[in-house]
Amino acid sequence: MSWSDERIAELKQLWSEGHSAAEIGRRLEVSKNAVIGKAHRLGLPSRPSPIKRERLTAKRAAKPAMSIPPKQKSKGPSCCWPNGDPGDVDFYFCGKPAMAGKPYCEEHYERAYILTRPKSGD
Ligand SMILES: [Zn+2]
Repeated sequence: MSWSDERIAELKQLWSEGHSAAEIGRRLEVSKNAVIGKAHRLGLPSRPSPIKRERLTAKRAAKPAMSIPPKQKSKGPSCCWPNGDPGDVDFYFCGKPAMAGKPYCEEHYERAYILTRPKSGD
């Protein structure tokens, strides 16, 4: 079998449209291997099959959602324990879920309680 300019043009067209080598082979009446071999010789960019590409896209779409930390600030009261100096650029509030009726999370409520408790037994 020979590759006329016309057939090569069609191969390039179908290839760029993302058809599988088998499908292009069916249309050009050549084997799938002939399509792959010709595409390789033409230097056409190899691309994943549509099925693989779909899976990759799904994976890529799912990943960011999983890596996003849970936003606790938007749900209910959050701990407003200040971390660092308010004048510092890295100053931030704790942000953990606060205890019911308290401005701090359990850990910081305890710290606040201990820090503000008057010293005794000195
Ligand atoms: Zn806290």
